Order: sequence, then C-alpha cells, then structure tokens
Amino acid sequence: MQLGFVGLGAMGQPIVSRLLAQGHSVVVCDVNEAAVRTLVAKGATSAATPMEVASASETVLVSLPTPDSVRAVALGDKGLIHGTRMKRYVDLSTSGAKTMTEVATALHAKGVSSIDAPVSGGVGAAASGTLAIMVAGDRATFSALKDLLTTIGSRLTYVGEEVGHGQSLKLINNLLAATSLAAASEALVLGRRLGLGLDTMLEVINASSGRSFATEKIIPQTVPQRTFDFGFRTELMHKDVRLCLDEAENLQVSMWLGNSVKQVWSHAMTQGGGKKDFSAILHLFEAWNGVQLGKAANDDSGAAR
Ligand code: NAD
Repeated sequence: MQLGFVGLGAMGQPIVSRLLAQGHSVVVCDVNEAAVRTLVAKGATSAATPMEVASASETVLVSLPTPDSVRAVALGDKGLIHGTRMKRYVDLSTSGAKTMTEVATALHAKGVSSIDAPVSGGVGAAASGTLAIMVAGDRATFSALKDLLTTIGSRLTYVGEEVGHGQSLKLINNLLAATSLAAASEALVLGRRLGLGLDTMLEVINASSGRSFATEKIIPQTVPQRTFDFGFRTELMHKDVRLCLDEAENLQVSMWLGNSVKQVWSHAMTQGGGKKDFSAILHLFEAWNGVQLGKAANDDSGAAR
C-alpha cells in the first residue's frame, strides 16, 4: 500500500521504520529535516509539504504533537486537504475529539474518510509494534486499514462509528496515566522519607494492589538510574490532561481528582519542565520533600534515610 506519513517524532520515527521494514512504500514529511533524512535513509520518500504527501498517497497517517499542528497539517495552506489522491486519513496523535471532528468534517467534504486511531504504550511499544490503538470512525475504512494498523499495534479496539470517540477514550486513559504517575511519585517520596528503599517499594507494590503502568514500567525504567528518558514529554502529558478536562467542562462533568492532577502538571510547566520527560514529574515531589530516589540517593538497600 502506498502510504503517506506526517510527523516523524518520538512516535512517528519507530512507526514509519516498522512500516518500511514490512515492505510498505511511505512518503514522509516533517518540519524537522533531520527526522526526514533518517527515514529516507531507511527507504522512505520525502515530500516538502503535507499537500504533496496527500497527492502521492491514498492513505495518510499523522502523528503530531498538538491540536494546532494537526489542524495546520490537515487543513492549512499547504495542508493534506489540498492533495489530489488521498482517500483515507488516520490521526494517530492525541489531538482531542473537537479537532478530530473538525478535521474529519472538512475532509469529508472533499471525499476523504477519516478515522481517529490514537495510540498508547510509548516509544518502546511503537518500536516493537505492540501499541494499543483505539479506533473510531467509518467501519468500512477501519476494515480496509485493519491489517495496516496491526503492523503498528497489537491491541486494536474498534471503539465505534462516531469520529472522535477514540480520541475521547485516549484522553480518559491519559488522565488516568497522569494521575497514577503523579500519585506514585508522591507515594514513593513518602516511602523514602519513611526510610524505605526504591527497589523494595517497587517490588512490593508491583506484586500488590497499588501497581500501575507508572510503577511497572515508567518508574523502574527511568528512576533507579535517574535517566528520566521514557520518551514522552511533560508538555504533551499536560496537553492531554487539559484536553480531557476541557471535554469534561463542556459537559459540566465534575472532576475533583482530575483538576488536582491538572494542577500538578500545570505546576511542572510553570517550572520550565515542559520539554523534560514526563517521568521527571518526580523531581517536584522530591524537591518539596528534600529527598531523592534512585542511584544518586543510594537508597536501594531499604536503609533508613
Ligand atoms: P514529537 O514532538 O516527538 O513528534 C512530533 C513531530 O511532529 C516532530 O517531529 C515535529 O517536528 C513534527 N511536526 C510538528 N508540527 C509539524 C508540522 N506543522 N508539519 C510537519 N511536522 C510537524 O511527539 P511524539 O512524542 O512523537 O507524539 C506525537 C503524538 O502522539 C502526540 O499527539 C502525543 O501526545 C501522542 N503520543 C505520544 C506518545 C509517546 O510516548 N511519545 C505515546 C502515545 C501518544
């Protein structure tokens, strides 16, 4: 299948690499020329604008950072909407239901069918093709793209016909991910203050009912060696929490916990932490409480502080 792909960042790079390795022909575009070059070296063809991508491919996927960038790529001056060949548009980004619906409506008027297919699992799952993908939109388009999506993710769920429902579900998932990472960071700092070691706490929590993706994956991979490099920026998590709470606000759904969690991520942004990995949210709790977890603290023995 001739594919187009716009947005070759932390997620786009490994996803396109997999598609190329599986024998797909992919036309790529990104404002970051180095990202384009890396994939051209692996066999992709480059296009200067999203419009060129959509003139070269029937199916175009995007993996972009923000709702504004999705709107610009899809509907802007040199956007996909002006291409001559595109028949199917797939948004893998977390861009929210509002943007998804706006873009899908505009593309529909040009005869393009859209599905939202936001992904979960991080950079490692993107590289191994084991992402979870939540798909919404026209069922026939989903069926036509099912094999392709199976190359990208191993856990594919068809959420329903309504465009945007995949996005809404992804925002709910990420609100929970943001909550559990912040809550685990806070709780582990308390444990450290109580004199508990990080390895011991993680071992027990991950064999018990307090476990989460944060305690099973994010924290063990980033905190013991203090690398804070899971592959998802704080500003992107903050964007997802905001989008989720905007959807709640529009429906006047009360979000007591969600709003507290939003304050934590907003605070990280005010402290200049937007470009840091989201695992670095731990730094806030450490600083407020005068302790450090992991290597620098040599705290893995469980010894008292
Ligand atoms: P990223 O910032 O690393 O990559 C985005 C890419 O889009 C960059 O290469 C950037 O140059 C490019 N871009 C931005 N504006 C553009 C434009 N106007 N035209 C062309 N290219 C443009 O972000 P990411 O981490 O790869 O995330 C992409 C999307 O996937 C986001 O919506 C994010 O929330 C979501 N997501 C990320 C992860 C993760 O672990 N990183 C996991 C699940 C979902």
